Amino acid sequence: MDSTSGLRAVFLGSGSAGNCTAIVSDETLVLVDCGFSAREVSRRLEAAGLDPARVSAVLVTHEHGDHVRGIEVFCRRHSPECAVVATSGTRRAAGSASLGGSAQSIRPGDALRIGDLEIVAFRTSHDAEEPVGYRISGGGQTIGIATDTGVLTPEAREALRDVDVLAIEGNHDVRMLEQGPYPYHLKRRILSAKGHLSNADAARALEVLAGDRLKRVVAMHRSRTNNTSAIAATVLRERLKRLGLAVPVDVAEQHGGIDTRPPQGSLLAP
Ligand SMILES: [Zn+2]
Ligand SMILES: [Zn+2]
Repeated sequence: MDSTSGLRAVFLGSGSAGNCTAIVSDETLVLVDCGFSAREVSRRLEAAGLDPARVSAVLVTHEHGDHVRGIEVFCRRHSPECAVVATSGTRRAAGSASLGGSAQSIRPGDALRIGDLEIVAFRTSHDAEEPVGYRISGGGQTIGIATDTGVLTPEAREALRDVDVLAIEGNHDVRMLEQGPYPYHLKRRILSAKGHLSNADAARALEVLAGDRLKRVVAMHRSRTNNTSAIAATVLRERLKRLGLAVPVDVAEQHGGIDTRPPQGSLLAP
């Protein structure tokens, strides 16, 4: 994504301690998940030059605390009109107390318009009630986000083809997980079809998802126990290289820090 692109993604933090990504067009600012405290999400938005009061929607992937923790307070405090977009299963599982804002339901496969963004939800495979990922388009650019999924579903495969920025889970290195300190049942859960994508899974996904438009790959939800940034990045870079694609790879860290574009435009905080 170059400096003239119409869509910007700011990875405010990713991992089991919290997840939040800001997607910014010329007119619209939305969050995918809000899994830190409201105060922390605001602080990170402001550090990226984004005004929390301009958030017009939070797109929720699923009900786990590391994805929904701050939503209710964030919307109440900063953006009372904020639409909280979630599947009915996610809303039910989260309970009415956990999600705030103005509830907007979405079904996997549905498209939705928020400001100048077109949003499509697609089914993911995770130990949650009705989890989804999102394909977000605006200004001639598309970003796809698929995290917390044990396998790449056919719907994800369809939705993530031809994106400009692919944010895909690279949770663990299988050998590090197998030999690591996690209890057996947790290892089984992570490795299951309703768990998390490994680096190797993400690399395999690139073979079907990497198209001519792809400009950037971001690995999401890296485990600090069962993976390293260097391993995740190397596995994905090597696969892209083998596919003949010179596409930069970043790993979204728990503290954030990846921004596809320097701050600019009308959404800057005053
Ligand atoms: Zn998670
Ligand atoms: Zn989860």
